[in-house]
Amino acid sequence: MKLPDKINTNCPKCGKHTQHTVKLSRKGKESPMNRGRRRYDEVKKGYGGSPRCPKKQVYKVGKRNVLLLECSVCKKKRQRVFAARTKKPLEVGK
Ligand SMILES: [Zn+2]
Repeated sequence: MKLPDKINTNCPKCGKHTQHTVKLSRKGKESPMNRGRRRYDEVKKGYGGSPRCPKKQVYKVGKRNVLLLECSVCKKKRQRVFAARTKKPLEVGK
């Protein structure tokens, strides 16, 4: 699916509609020593298997994409979850 690389939308900092540049937001690498990871490793240790979510029966086909919007006036960045699930990755600015 194709998206424009510039859209007009509301900026919460400016308080009005301004032009935003659109990029795909990539998830950063998870730190191996964060609190949730340490707690999860502690629970997973030893016998007993995984404490959380048993094996999924049904998998969703598409992924939800996260867009990174940057206001052209105040340069404030924010994320927006693109509502539709897409099988192919989004194409921005084509
Ligand atoms: Zn702004």
